[in-house]
Amino acid sequence: MLKTEDLKAFYGKAQILNGVNAEVNRGEAVAILGPNGAGKTTLIRAILGLVETEGKVFFNGTDISSLKPHERVRLGIGVCPEGRGLFPNMTVEENLLLAGDDLDLAYSLFPKLKNRRNQLVKQMSGGEQQMVAIARALISKPKVLILDEPSMGLAPKVLKEIAGVLKEIKREVSILIVEQNVKFAMSFADRGYVLVKGSIVKEFESKEEIEKLYFT
Ligand code: ATP
Repeated sequence: MLKTEDLKAFYGKAQILNGVNAEVNRGEAVAILGPNGAGKTTLIRAILGLVETEGKVFFNGTDISSLKPHERVRLGIGVCPEGRGLFPNMTVEENLLLAGDDLDLAYSLFPKLKNRRNQLVKQMSGGEQQMVAIARALISKPKVLILDEPSMGLAPKVLKEIAGVLKEIKREVSILIVEQNVKFAMSFADRGYVLVKGSIVKEFESKEEIEKLYFT
C-alpha cells in the first residue's frame, strides 16, 4: 500500500534520513518507533513530499516520488500531524466539516464528540482534541492514515480509547504511526521499525518481540 525505498531526506545540507526502507500493507497498522530527533516527523514529511528527498515513495505500487504534496494526499494519504493542526477557535463540528461531510463516521468512531460538537476545540481536553484530529483525518476517507505521535501529553485512559478506535479501523484504513510511546503504539500496531539517527536499526514482527527489546 505505502512503501519507501532508500528514502533520504535533507534540510539544506543536513541529511536527516539515510535511506529508509519501510512498508505498510493493506489492513495493517505499522509503527515507527524511535527517540527524540530520530527523524520520525521528517519521515512523514518525506512521504508527503514536504521536504527535499532522494529515493522513492510508492503508493499502491505507483511511484509517487515526483508528485506534489496535495496530489499525494488526494490519492488517499491522510495525515494527523504532530500538534494536531486543529483550528482552536472553531467548534468540533466546524473543524470536522473542513475535511468532509461524513459527520456520522466521525461520531460513530468517537461518540463523545457528538455531544461536544458545538464546543470550541480550545475548550476541549487534549485527548478530545486528539480524537477530533483523528476523526478529521478519517473524514477525508484516506486509504492510509499517518499519525505523528498522537500519544503526546495524553493520559493512559484516553490512549486506551484512541488505541481501541485505531485497532477497529485498521482493516479498512492502513495505519502508519510514528511514536515514542512503545506501549501505546504496540497496543494496536501489528509490527514495526525502530528508527535511530535517520536509519532503521531494527524491524520487528510482533508486539512480543519489541516488548522483549524494550522492557527486559
Ligand atoms: P521528535 O520526536 O522530537 O519530533 P523526530 O524523530 O520526529 O523527533 P525530526 O523532527 O524528524 O525527529 O527531526 C530529525 C532531525 O532533523 C533533528 O536533528 C532535527 O533537529 C532536524 N530538523 C528537523 N526539522 C528541521 C528543519 N526544518 N531544518 C533543519 N533541521 C531540522
